[in-house]
Amino acid sequence: MSLDPSTIVVHDDAFPAGAVVPPIFQTSLFTFGSYQELEDAMAGRVARPIYSRGDNPTVQAFEAKMAALEGAEAARAFASGMAAISAAVLSNLGAGERMVCVRHCYPDAFRLFTTVLPRFAIQVDFVDGRDAPAVDRALPGAKVLYLETPTSVVFEAQDLPRLTAMASAHGALTIADNSWASPIFQRPLAHGVDLVVHSASKYLGGHSDVVAGVICGRRELIERIDAGAFPLLGGKLAPFEGWLLVRGLRTLPLRMRRHHESALEIARRLAAHPQIKRINHPLLGEPGPGVATLTGASGLFSFELEGEREAVRGFCDALRLFRLGVSWGGHESLAFPAAAGLAQKGEANPLAFFGVSPATIRLHIGLEDPEDLWSDLTQALLRAAA
Ligand SMILES: *Cc1c(COP(=O)(O)O)cnc(C)c1O
Repeated sequence: MSLDPSTIVVHDDAFPAGAVVPPIFQTSLFTFGSYQELEDAMAGRVARPIYSRGDNPTVQAFEAKMAALEGAEAARAFASGMAAISAAVLSNLGAGERMVCVRHCYPDAFRLFTTVLPRFAIQVDFVDGRDAPAVDRALPGAKVLYLETPTSVVFEAQDLPRLTAMASAHGALTIADNSWASPIFQRPLAHGVDLVVHSASKYLGGHSDVVAGVICGRRELIERIDAGAFPLLGGKLAPFEGWLLVRGLRTLPLRMRRHHESALEIARRLAAHPQIKRINHPLLGEPGPGVATLTGASGLFSFELEGEREAVRGFCDALRLFRLGVSWGGHESLAFPAAAGLAQKGEANPLAFFGVSPATIRLHIGLEDPEDLWSDLTQALLRAAA
């Protein structure tokens, strides 16, 4: 029976003693009553947890829900979104092979692709994911196409059915980061994507109290990850965090609806504001084919402010309800100025590489009253203009 997401997040198979919430299996190892039981587990003849760097029942409760939400055969949870991304990529690329990646991918994914992968002689080429012919020209010889739709910072949406069809024609596997939309507003596997990755630190957790990641896909592809990158790089999720994520997922459909409504309303008002040069929100502006797979929008978008760096500084310092910080997807509203990201040290600055304007400010619209948030934004815009 195929269930609606709002039922999936609430309904569980039976837990011990009829509990309606999974127990936290705070144990590193699991013991066996006989030699035969131990051997059956080690040989994989019986699926039983052996050691918590592999399987843990509390974490499995989260993995099962994520697989159901994404319409996947299997899911594997990780200690962070980056652990999930690195495992997905390293499980499908070898020395001398090449990956095509959309521009404006998540900044730390960019750093992984440009500073760590080249040490294994893996080449990554960046393309504008909105330009399907450009993606097609980049694909010959590539093993992996890496998508994030919409992208970080400027929210460029990609045409999933078209790009995944091109990738499979070239024999490339498609990985897509679905953190922004969550499975409530986009299910990439239904549009030809092979592996979906998430930062569960964002909407899936939803309360800004956990850092985690997850990969969803066909069993055979998850088994490939389980055979190497997952247990051997060791980025496993802790049982308590698995528990927090199951708790967070209970309200995911409700929270996403509220983020969608509040953020779209605020983005529309900002778009009409004289101090706003440009809005980067997938559902405002040109309705390209990239948004066809989105059934809603999350709380995250950005805009460019009229004026110089001083205007950005004045706006940020005048905010009262919005707090300044990285990350997003929790209950609270946040602002992040791209200028601060451009000032970040390191070998490779993705914002500079992709040419992000220092006038860009990213907003996460949280669960507060949208009129309170709008009052805060308008008073901060007044101060920015002063
Ligand atoms: C935050 C984020 C990540 C990385 O996730 P972590 O849990 O911080 O490791 C990956 N992709 C996107 C789009 C993100 O916003």
